[in-house]
Amino acid sequence: MPITSGVDRLVVQGRDFYIKRDDLIDPLLSGNKYRKLYSLIDTPATRYRRLISYGGTQSNAMLSIAALCRQKGWLFDYTAKTVPAHLKASPSGNLRMALELGMQLHEVAPAAYQAAIEKLRSQSDPAMLLVPQGGADPMARFGIDMLAREIDAWRRSRRISSLYIVTPSGTGTTAYYLACALPELMVLTTPVVGDRGYLSAQMERLGAMPRNLRILESGRKHNFARPYPEFLDMWRELKEAGIEFDLIYGAAMWHVLLEQIDRIDGTILYVHSGGLSGNATMLERYRHKGFI
Ligand SMILES: *Cc1c(COP(=O)(O)O)cnc(C)c1O
Repeated sequence: MPITSGVDRLVVQGRDFYIKRDDLIDPLLSGNKYRKLYSLIDTPATRYRRLISYGGTQSNAMLSIAALCRQKGWLFDYTAKTVPAHLKASPSGNLRMALELGMQLHEVAPAAYQAAIEKLRSQSDPAMLLVPQGGADPMARFGIDMLAREIDAWRRSRRISSLYIVTPSGTGTTAYYLACALPELMVLTTPVVGDRGYLSAQMERLGAMPRNLRILESGRKHNFARPYPEFLDMWRELKEAGIEFDLIYGAAMWHVLLEQIDRIDGTILYVHSGGLSGNATMLERYRHKGFI
C-alpha cells in the first residue's frame, strides 16, 4: 500500500502557507525520493539483484536508494568521485548512513568519472538496474503522479480554485512531472543545483516544457550546497514557525519564494521535499565557517 502524506498550515512572515508533509513519510526514504522511487518500492524483491547509481557522496538520493535496497535485499553499488581523505577516515551524514545500510562505494578519479558512468550505462544485465543521478528517470513519473492526485483531491476538498504548488529543483524531475500531471495548476520551482538554463536543459530531457511551470530565480547567485547566512536565517525562521526543512533545497526555495511573494496571488501549497538527514552535516559546515 502506498503511503500518503497530510497537509499542514504554516504561517511565515504573516502569510499563510499549506505544506504537503512528504518529509514525514519515512526518515530515510523521504520527500520526493519516496515518490520518485515509488515504482521500485512497488517492485517485487525478486525482480532485481543489484541497483547501481552514481553522484555526490552526501546525496539524499544515494541514501534513499541505500534504504530501499536494504529493505528489498538488493545489492547497491554507488560510483562517486574520489572522496576526501578526512571523510573516508570518518564518514559522516548521508554517506555514513548509506554505508551502514550496506552500500558499496566505488571511487573514481575526477578525470575518469564520465567514462566510468558511460561504462555503467552500457551494461545490460536484467537482474541489475541503473538509477540515474538523483533518480532523474521516467520511472519517477509513477510516484509523482500519485502525489499529484493527492494534491488535487486535497484542493477539491478545500474548494481552492487557484493553487500554486511550490517545490525546489535539483534535476527538476519532481517539478516537471508535477506540472505535467496538473496542467490546470501553476507549479513554481527554483534551480538549486545550477541556473535556469541548466534546469531547463535537465527538464527538456524528460519532454517538452509544460506551460504551467515557472522557474523563480533569486536576485543573488548561490552555489549548490554551500553555506549562506541568508539560508541559515531562512531555515531558522521556518523551524521557529513550526516545520523543519532541509538547508540546501528547502532554504533556497523559501528564500526566493519570499523574495517574490508579492507577485503571487493565490493559495500556496509547498511540497516538502524531505532531505532532513543532511542537515547535521550542513550545520557542521555552517559552524566551521563561523556562521553559527
Ligand atoms: C533530491 C531533492 C530535491 C530535488 O529533486 P529533483 O526531483 O531532482 O528536482 C529537492 N529537495 C530535496 C530535499 C531533495 O533531496
